[in-house]
Amino acid sequence: MRHRIAVVGSGPAGLTFARVMHRHGHPVTILERDPSPDARPPGGALDLHEGMGQLALRKAGLLAEFEALSRPEGQAMRILAPDGTVLRDWRPRPDERANPEIDRGHLRDLLLGPLEVRWGQSVTRVVPGTGEGVRVDLADGRSETYDLVIGADGAWSRTRPALSPVRPHHTGVTAVETYLDDIDTRHPALARLVGDGSLAVYGVNRSLVAQRNSGGHVRVHAQFRAPADWHGRLDAADPEAVRAALLALFDGWTTEALGLLRHGTAFTPRPLHVLPVGHTWPHTRGVTLLGDAAHLMPPLGAGANLAMLEGAELAELLAAADDDDLAEVLRTFEERMWPRAARWAGITAAGLDRLVSPDPAEALAVFDAVQPS
Ligand SMILES: Cc1cc2nc3c(=O)[nH]c(=O)nc-3n(C[C@H](O)[C@H](O)[C@H](O)COP(=O)(O)OP(=O)(O)OC[C@H]3O[C@@H](n4cnc5c(N)ncnc54)[C@H](O)[C@@H]3O)c2cc1C
Repeated sequence: MRHRIAVVGSGPAGLTFARVMHRHGHPVTILERDPSPDARPPGGALDLHEGMGQLALRKAGLLAEFEALSRPEGQAMRILAPDGTVLRDWRPRPDERANPEIDRGHLRDLLLGPLEVRWGQSVTRVVPGTGEGVRVDLADGRSETYDLVIGADGAWSRTRPALSPVRPHHTGVTAVETYLDDIDTRHPALARLVGDGSLAVYGVNRSLVAQRNSGGHVRVHAQFRAPADWHGRLDAADPEAVRAALLALFDGWTTEALGLLRHGTAFTPRPLHVLPVGHTWPHTRGVTLLGDAAHLMPPLGAGANLAMLEGAELAELLAAADDDDLAEVLRTFEERMWPRAARWAGITAAGLDRLVSPDPAEALAVFDAVQPS
């Protein structure tokens, strides 16, 4: 492959793409806005499905290393009613490998391996059809030209406008994220409540979900129906103001579970945005999208899996193609990606409606429908 290829973004999509290309002997340029890998906290754990994220890692030659790093016990799930009644308490069999959890930081380091990322390269614009190729404008005023630019730059992609005028819209659900460190020593009762995996409490139009990461770190998401600027009315920089607003919102819930909010450190508002189900664009010479940039959907366990699978599939198609077939490869890739992404976008949109719903029984039905027996 003679082509000059750049991937914008070093999230799960961009890194999986670059790593599979690397495995096939085709280095690519990785342009990442963050100044360094640890410039911001990597976020909570991801569950990687056997036929999606794990398949992508197999294509990257990294499945065995993933198995050593992942936590199958993290698939455990306990569901409570707001009054504390235990409704479900599911634990995986020791050999259950359908959706093991991995910390995002561990996954990133696994994918990074020998790859060289150009950190601190913020792309402002991608311009196809310049004659020379595809122009990439950078925030420092420089421009670079490539034969192929892959936009793997997430929800607010700067690559997407080269292909589509569509922007994400708010779902009507807002999440606020907090976390607890050293939970086993500092809050043993909460640690027992959360268990090895996740704890979810579903009430009317709101939920509280806690997820254990490695090293006694627990991520907590309070989700509720509210405008995207819910936190705008609070002093978001003041954790006590956000904590008090959340405790008022979840007033009356079991004090055991509310301990997750009482002891949470820092609160980050995350209004949930999505792209329309079935988002596509005209096939365009030299540019395509992967992952959230192509199909941002509610965070219900599919986004990173799809992002990684797409990255691996596009890399394999490119590695197997003749140099003259670039346009055909993009067409084949997009036509495989679009219907699958649309199906998951539909499933996760319906899932979010049922998980943050006027009838909490809907949330249990979602869990029962997907849970392995
Ligand atoms: C709370 C939560 C829990 C989730 N849990 C799961 C789960 O369990 N399983 C699952 O499959 N999915 C999950 N998801 C969804 C998943 O996180 C995303 O779908 C996934 O991260 C998408 O990967 P990506 O590589 O497409 O984009 P991102 O992970 O957003 O990565 C994009 C990268 O591009 C960089 N970038 C952005 N703009 C620019 C620019 N202009 N120039 C250069 N670089 C740029 C960013 O810094 C970032 O590194 C969850 C999401 C949330 C919010």
